[in-house]
Amino acid sequence: IICSRSSFSVNFTVRTEYAPHHFNSEAFLEGRGLIIEGLVAIKANIREENFQAARETLGRVLHTLQDFYSHSNWVELGYTEPYINLIRPDLPLENLADISTATCSDCASGKCPNSILPNILKEKKLTSGYMGIFSAAKPKGKCSHGGAGDLTSTAEPRGGISKDERRADNVAFHNAAVNVATAASLQLLEDIRLAAGDNNFLRYEVQNSVLSKLYLMISLSTGVT
Ligand SMILES: [Zn+2]
Repeated sequence: IICSRSSFSVNFTVRTEYAPHHFNSEAFLEGRGLIIEGLVAIKANIREENFQAARETLGRVLHTLQDFYSHSNWVELGYTEPYINLIRPDLPLENLADISTATCSDCASGKCPNSILPNILKEKKLTSGYMGIFSAAKPKGKCSHGGAGDLTSTAEPRGGISKDERRADNVAFHNAAVNVATAASLQLLEDIRLAAGDNNFLRYEVQNSVLSKLYLMISLSTGVT
């Protein structure tokens, strides 16, 4: 949700194309793997008082975690609480739409209130938008991320399910994504606090100007990227 500045520098293509960092292209297991790996690293870094490394990893992990709510159909499925399994390695990710399951209907205007297919909503299958900045190719029937940078959204089914931007046609889903991503971010910080112990977490926080800005951003509940 919060796209870091580095995404727009030399790393733009690499990071944008690497689906798991953004939960694009149904890369759920890989995306969750990045979150879990990152959490382990953050906790180890705090223990070793390596607060700078912990802060950098936290930024990446929060980006990925928040993108789940913006790029998947979690809020379209009606969920208003965070998907706790994303930060719990002992819990499985279930009901993922497989590669051969169509997930979206065609949206020629690019502005449809909900493109997720009715059977996907009914069966509560989890999916996310495909993203391609060099190619329009995507598996048959799959949703796209959408937006000017995503070529797959020009291939049927057209349109996109990303809730990064607040538009007239997606206000409710955008706001729902912001709210649940905010709750999920706080849950992750709480998980780190419990593991680190209050003393270390406080020192981490004090040394972490990005984290305090993040708190501010969270409390303001502004944009999604
Ligand atoms: Zn992203």
